[in-house]
Parts: sequence; C-alpha cells; structure tokens
Amino acid sequence: METVEAGHDDVIGWFEHVSENACKVQSETLRRILELNSGVEYLTKWLGTVDIEKMDDYTLETHFTSLVPIVSHADLDPYIQRIADGETSPLLTQEPITVLSLSSGTTEGRQKYVPFTRHSAQTTLQIFRLSAAYRSRFCPIREGGRILEFIYAGKEFMTQGGLTVGTATAHYYASEEFKTKQETTKSFTCSPQEVISGGDFGQCTYCHLLLGLHYSSQVEFVASAFSYTIVQAFSFFEDIWREICADIKEGNLNSRITLPKMRKTVLALIRPNPSLASHIEEICMELESNLGWFGLIPKLWPNAKFISSIMTGSMLPYLKKLRHYAGSLPLVSADYGSTESWIGVNVDPHLPPEDVTFAVIPTFSYFEFIPLYRRQNESDIGSDGDFVEEKPVPLSQVKLGQEYELVLTTFTGLYRYRLGDVVEVTGFHKGTPKLSFIYRRKLILTINIDKNTEKDLQRVVDKASQLLSRTTRAEVVDFTSQADVIARPGHYVIYWEIRGEAEDKALEECCREMDTAFVDYGYVVSRRMNSIGPLELRVVERGTFGKVAERCVGKCGGLNQFKTPRCTTNSVMLNILDDSTIKRFRSSAYN
Ligand code: AMP
Repeated sequence: METVEAGHDDVIGWFEHVSENACKVQSETLRRILELNSGVEYLTKWLGTVDIEKMDDYTLETHFTSLVPIVSHADLDPYIQRIADGETSPLLTQEPITVLSLSSGTTEGRQKYVPFTRHSAQTTLQIFRLSAAYRSRFCPIREGGRILEFIYAGKEFMTQGGLTVGTATAHYYASEEFKTKQETTKSFTCSPQEVISGGDFGQCTYCHLLLGLHYSSQVEFVASAFSYTIVQAFSFFEDIWREICADIKEGNLNSRITLPKMRKTVLALIRPNPSLASHIEEICMELESNLGWFGLIPKLWPNAKFISSIMTGSMLPYLKKLRHYAGSLPLVSADYGSTESWIGVNVDPHLPPEDVTFAVIPTFSYFEFIPLYRRQNESDIGSDGDFVEEKPVPLSQVKLGQEYELVLTTFTGLYRYRLGDVVEVTGFHKGTPKLSFIYRRKLILTINIDKNTEKDLQRVVDKASQLLSRTTRAEVVDFTSQADVIARPGHYVIYWEIRGEAEDKALEECCREMDTAFVDYGYVVSRRMNSIGPLELRVVERGTFGKVAERCVGKCGGLNQFKTPRCTTNSVMLNILDDSTIKRFRSSAYN
C-alpha cells in the first residue's frame, strides 16, 4: 500500500514537472479545454466551426484570444441561467452540468452561479494533496491523526430546472473526493458530516469544539477555509468553555444543540470523560485568568503542529488575534483559489502569511493576465482605487513586479472570464509565476466569505432610501460604511446623514431592508449562520459629511475632486462619524 510520504513525493514530483514546463502546459491546457468543449454554443458563436486540432499551439492561442472576448460574469450569465432553467443542449461545456456553485459577489444585484463539474472536485482534491505534501516537508504530521477543522457546508437547493446549487465547498464536502482526501492524506476531520452540514454557525462551532476536545490528543493541526472562522470559533469558546467541559464530563450534549441529526450523531461519538474535563477546566481557568487566552490552541491541543487556513488578502486583519490564540504554533497560509477555479499553491508554507505567494498550477485552467497600472494621483482617501489596464498577456509573458488582474478559461465553461482579483508577480517557481494576492478589485465590504462592491452597497442604500422616502418626509443626503471586524461577530456599519424628520421605527425598517438587500451569497450564508452579525445603521448629525470632506480636502487636494469614500477604514474619518452619531439601529433580519 502506498505510504503518505511516497504519495507526497509523487504529487510534488508532478507539480515540479508541470511548473518547469508551465508555458507548454498552459498551451496544452487551452487545447484540452477547447477540444473537450468543441461545438458548444458559446464557443461556436465566437470561434465558428474551425478545426482546432490542426492548429499549432501558437496559432491556437492567437486564434482563441483574438476571437473570444474577455468577459465578466454578467456576459456569461444568460447561458448559465439557461442551464439553471434545465436546458440540456451543450451551451458552455459538452459535459452536462448538473450542479452549480455560488461564487462570491453579485451580477447586477443577483447571486452569481458558476458551473461545477467533477473536474472542480478533482482539482480541489489535487490542490489539497499538493498543499499537504509541501506542508509536510515543513511540519510533518502523524499518519492517522485528526484535524480540528472549522468547516461549514451551507445548505444546497434546487433551481427551477432541477440543478443542485450550493457553495463549491458544500459540494466538495459532500463529494467522494472529500472522503478520498481524508484517506489519502491519512488525516481525519474530528466532526462528522452531520456537523459539517448542520447549517447553523453556533451549533456547528460548538460541536466542532466539543469533538475537537474529545479527540484532543489525536489532533495534529487546526484548520478552516478562512481564518476569520478560527478566530470567531475561539472567541466563542472563551464564552462557552464551561458548557463544553460539562458535556465532556457527562458525555452529554448541551441543549443549545437543537438540530436532531447533529445531536444524535455527536451523542453517539462522545463518552463521559471526567478526567479530560477537569484537565481542560484547569487549563481554561489559567488561560482565562492569567494569560488572556494567549496560546489557547497549543495548550488545549498539545500535539497540534500548526494552524492552516487562508490568512492572506481580506483575512489579514484577523492575523493578530490568530497569532494570539496560536502562541508559538506556526501559521500556515492556505492556497489561492476561487469558485471558478483553483489558482495557486503555497509552496513555501514556512513563510509568515504576510509574505506568502502562490505558485500558479498550469494544468487547472488557462490563465491570462491583464497588466494594471495604478493611477498616480487618485490613491488618496477619495480615490476609487482603480487602475489603468493594458492588453492581457499569457502566463509565458508575465513580468516580475507587475500587477495584473486574472482572467480564467476553465474546464467548467468559463472562457476569458475576469475574476476581479488583483495579483502581483513576485517570483517564479521553476517556470510558473508566484503570485502575491493584492485584493479583489472594487471590493469594499468584506468580513468573512462575503464580498460586496461599491455597486452592491449603492444598490442596497438606494433600496432603503426609497423606503425612507416612501414612509417618511426624510431623505438620505450622503452615506458611507465600514466593515467592523473588531466586533464579535463582525458586522457591516452604514452611516447615513439624512435631511428631514424620520421616526425611529422607519429607520429601523431601513436598517433591516439594507441587511436583506445584500444578496451576495457569502453574506447571506454568513448572516443566516450568524458568523456575521446584524447590520448596523448609524445616523449622523446634519453637516457631518461636510466636515469629513473639509478634513479630507485638507489632506488630499481640491474639493471638486473629492468623492465621499463609500467604505472607509480611515481613523480620522471614522472618528468624525462616530462623534457625530446621533442614532443607532441593529437589523432584525435573519432572527
Ligand atoms: P469565492 O468565489 O467565494 O470562492 O471566493 C474566491 C475569492 O476569495 C478569490 O477570488 C479571492 O478574492 C479570495 N481568495 C481566495 N483564496 C485566497 C487567498 N489564499 N488569499 C487571498 N484571497 C483569497
């Protein structure tokens, strides 16, 4: 039987080979995608019926990039919608699409569906194996151990045409590949399926923690998809550790767990263990009274070797707290991908999250790169942070130090699709570029897996201000927002300056309206699970935004150039806003 170590060597050997030949592999990947999907409606529309098999690689790439346009999700949405409605003729792929994933962000205020195929689950398995292989060189783990994984599948539902819709992670956790991953990496998640797919953040987290402690001596590492979840889970633990200890002592399950399947499965796994309970109790008392919970993870999971999750990009604000809980344990930043396609693997797991880059996996998709140049004079507080763009280049032509937006052509039917992520090429792994994630373009509000752009926010505020005008004699004069990542759980705060009189009840309704009007699936799921708290509306006194403008103009140029930033982390601006807040409301939606 293959050992884990031999498996690691195989998968690293494979990756070294494809990265060495990344440019050639990219051409082959494009050819495979186009051959597999030859004759689908979308490709025929742009490429006609020309026989690509006879073309050499260079001609094929030129032919493809000169005829197929660069698109965004909105352009492909009509095709995806037809698939969702049950149309079975080959529109984007020859392989029938039966499952759709919800990608983050919205298209014209609607949730974004992208096709999910077997290839999607297979590449997830492949990158997890690859990642585990690189990690094991830095932090080897014991075979047969457990992972305390804070993972949440979210609910799946059906489209009108009978296709299953859910997050890519929900599909993955339900797939054969997830089981295979546990078997091939010989590391098993502490929680069973019934906990992973429970759908309630509080109840799932409680059980993850309880089972994590139940199996504490076997836990080899702690993980989650995004580090926000680990931070949330342990700050929740600070409040409920006594209840967990009581459950471990008695082999019982707290009445806060009401989901019947979850209760039954967890109760079947645990046994009364008074000595473990008193050991945990002792440690927690010391952590609580003397250590401010510093080093919680290694104290409670003494065999844990590291913590792994996505810690880059919008997760950087949580690093401080994560390091606090991790104490001396290394933080291993997980890989880079999206619902549309996995992109790159962290081949340097020893690096701190601030320095992590991702080596592009050239077999997963065909990647193109739009060179971006920052606008020089609009980088201050009032800037929309956008770039000047140039013509996209293939992987073979990317330059060190250059920033790009990624464009994907995938096996799942997305052709020259703008992902919206800004990356910088910071090095090369053999022949494949290493990317540093900069940020999601146009993204302003994000706490967890939620991603909302300025347009999304504008739409949400428009809806609520229409409600305000219908129900009162007041109107919204100006607004801004912030993602409060310090609060527990984090939540969105929207500041309004209004003209005219509005009763509290009407403003409360507006607050609720805004909370439900964010339809980005990442937000909806996080709100349903309460991993993001209720949206807060803060009404500021008249003239506040004038003060903000004056203050900013003082710093950054002419008043006629000034645009109120629709989201801010600027402490000067937040101080003005908070000092001028006269009313606060919390949304009652999702209760
Ligand atoms: P989703 O489409 O919901 O799966 O979200 C994918 C997006 O999350 C990517 O396009 C990035 O913006 C962000 N993301 C994924 N992985 C990472 C990572 N390792 N570092 C930073 N951001 C990431």
